[in-house]
Amino acid sequence: MREEIYDIGGMHCAACSSAVERVTKKLPGVSESSVNLPLNRLTISYDEAQTTPEDIINKIERAGFTATVQKPKAEKADINAAEKDDEIIKKQSKSEKTGLVISLVSAGILLVFSMLPMIFPSFPMPDIISLGKNPQNAAIIQMLLCIPVFAAGRRYFTSGIKSLMHGNPNMDTLVAVSAGASVIYSLVMTLLIPIRPHSAHELYFESAAVVVALVSLGKYLEAGSSAKTKSAIDGLIKLKPETATLVIDGETRQVPTAELKVGDVILIRAGASVPTDGVVQSGTGAVNEAMLTGESLPADKKEGDALIGGSILLSGALYMQVKKTGEDTVLAGIIKFVLDAQGKKAPIAKTADKVAGVFVPVVMAIAIISAVLWLIFGQTPSFALKIFTTVLVIACPCAMGLATPTAIIVGTGMGANAGILIRSGEALELSSKISVALLDKTGTVTKGEPAVTDVRSVNDNEKELLSAAASLEILSDHPIAKAITEYSKKRGIAAEQTLTNVKMHEGGGISAISETGEALYIGNDRLYRELGIDTEKYIKLLDKLRAEGKTPVICGRQGEILGVIAVADEPLPDAKEGIEALVALGIKPVLLTGDSEQTALAIAKSVGISDVIAEVLPTEKAEHVIRLKEKGETVLMVGDGINDAPALISADLGCAIGAGSDIAIDSADIILMRRELISVAEAVRLGRLTLRGIKQNLFWAFAYNVIGIPIAAGLLYPSYGILLSPMFGGLAMGLSSLFVVTNALRLKTKRWRGKA
Ligand code: ADP
Ligand code: MG
Repeated sequence: MREEIYDIGGMHCAACSSAVERVTKKLPGVSESSVNLPLNRLTISYDEAQTTPEDIINKIERAGFTATVQKPKAEKADINAAEKDDEIIKKQSKSEKTGLVISLVSAGILLVFSMLPMIFPSFPMPDIISLGKNPQNAAIIQMLLCIPVFAAGRRYFTSGIKSLMHGNPNMDTLVAVSAGASVIYSLVMTLLIPIRPHSAHELYFESAAVVVALVSLGKYLEAGSSAKTKSAIDGLIKLKPETATLVIDGETRQVPTAELKVGDVILIRAGASVPTDGVVQSGTGAVNEAMLTGESLPADKKEGDALIGGSILLSGALYMQVKKTGEDTVLAGIIKFVLDAQGKKAPIAKTADKVAGVFVPVVMAIAIISAVLWLIFGQTPSFALKIFTTVLVIACPCAMGLATPTAIIVGTGMGANAGILIRSGEALELSSKISVALLDKTGTVTKGEPAVTDVRSVNDNEKELLSAAASLEILSDHPIAKAITEYSKKRGIAAEQTLTNVKMHEGGGISAISETGEALYIGNDRLYRELGIDTEKYIKLLDKLRAEGKTPVICGRQGEILGVIAVADEPLPDAKEGIEALVALGIKPVLLTGDSEQTALAIAKSVGISDVIAEVLPTEKAEHVIRLKEKGETVLMVGDGINDAPALISADLGCAIGAGSDIAIDSADIILMRRELISVAEAVRLGRLTLRGIKQNLFWAFAYNVIGIPIAAGLLYPSYGILLSPMFGGLAMGLSSLFVVTNALRLKTKRWRGKA
């Protein structure tokens, strides 16, 4: 199986995107194919043995669109493409603007010219072009005024007719057929004027021109707003500076960022951006990482601290050694992550997509049927034409196609700027439905940097205890192990022995044999039970330490207990606030840990959690998640992403926290760049907000068409005399997709960060 991304050209509305999906899904071996309309991008998964990229491109081209494979080097391709897009958009928008002005002005003049005699019969129109005195001349002038409008909007005709020929009629087809029908009818009427003077009153040139001009205006405004939905990702792409100051033999030289290599030393001056990922070699400074992690307070950096490319040095000066470049950097990872998310469809969009796929043919059928019915019921051909053209142009498949993706692009973009990366529209949708949040203790609720608090040696020989403990713990990378080895090192007691027969007991501790053949062990009661060594005498001490929220481990040798070492891990500074925010959202927080129940309860209490699941082996964490799911809960699992992977995958939504420097986490649906518990609640709020935006958009798009089309078909005419003009239809269509995009952009004004 292979996943590829294609840039698709020539799509204008949901009917187009669903046509691209439809034809590609018919290829053998294609398991998934989904188009993101605002991004003009197809994401497709297929079996290389059955289909080739050429097949895919061919199929798409035969349907009337263009397709190019995006370079597999996602970051480079995307960044270059984004820059190229920028240029193209600038050029395009200039010529589009001129075209739009020409078409609006001509349509305006035409409208005034054709309406004036009706509104102001006394207006002194020169005889030679007066509709009353010289109807044929007037008709020809109207016809001529149409030309600039159609020339500026020729896209609707070329694309609309072409896609009709390919059997994939789209929004352009509706406009083209509607305007085309009006023009042909009017041309016939113009020719008939000499034999049937009344024909001069059945000209619809102005309506055809105004429809095209208004639809163009709507599209133009929509394109501008659509571009704004992508501003977050554009902002990220632009974070990387073009050049860096390379230091060689004490001399500095400006080089393009792309030429930096791992190991290079660069100088970063105050006010400049960090060009790529690295560590501070010397110097100090305050760095703003807000755009990458959402952390608004500047971080102080000194020798040995990590720097993320794209952050800005506010003050000071730093020499940095380059650690990662190009696609390996955090920034490139974020961009790729967000672009991936935006290319995927949310489940909620499925119905809209189905409707959009058949929408245009259905609308064309409705237009024809209503026109024919009105003729049968004795209306004039001119009346029937008006109905036909209005139905065609009022229908707006674009609104439906834009409803979901625009909101998701805005939502995921807002998240990315706040250090909250959401993998897909589906994750976004799910995050709004969470009922239980399982929080891993170490590293999620606590800082994950435990420190030794108590050392209780049985025979008053701390040195012996710490030396044995350090010899064992140096072999482990558990946070407890780190705390103990660091502590003994500080006390000048190092691991003295090299051990053999080392055994790591999952969720228990370590056992090994020393150089002199003695058995050594360190761990919790579970380990000692396993080893068959009695710890009864120490229960009271262990309980006391646990009630204080500390984690005691017992160190023993040859069946004897040497003593107890307790470590404690402080809760994250915002743990209480973060839990409160979750509770306020109606989500039940549960602490999940391998630690003892008493320790877990003490910590839970201190941060406001009342439910704990303790003494869970790492392998059992996923089972607890599944058990909760079976009870009907929608489970969010939050972990620090190292050993919690199975649980993250089992949960409805897996959330990796504190991934600031390493976002290559495959098992998580949401990545929180900051190690701040509040960002869990923020992610949920963002999900709810975005989903509400999507629902509003979908409701609007459907309601608009469901109400607009029957009215345009003349449903209200018999009882209320209400009949829409094609010009109104064109205006409504243009505004309705603009409305959807604007509503999506409105998400940006909502409050969702911080406490509430
Ligand atoms: P958690 O991630 O919640 O800390 P673990 O399964 O990693 O859960 O650890 C559970 C318990 O096992 C720890 O609280 C500790 O008592 C014991 N333990 C695990 N590894 C070690 C170790 N290297 N040294 C001492 N005790 C350990
Ligand atoms: Mg852990």
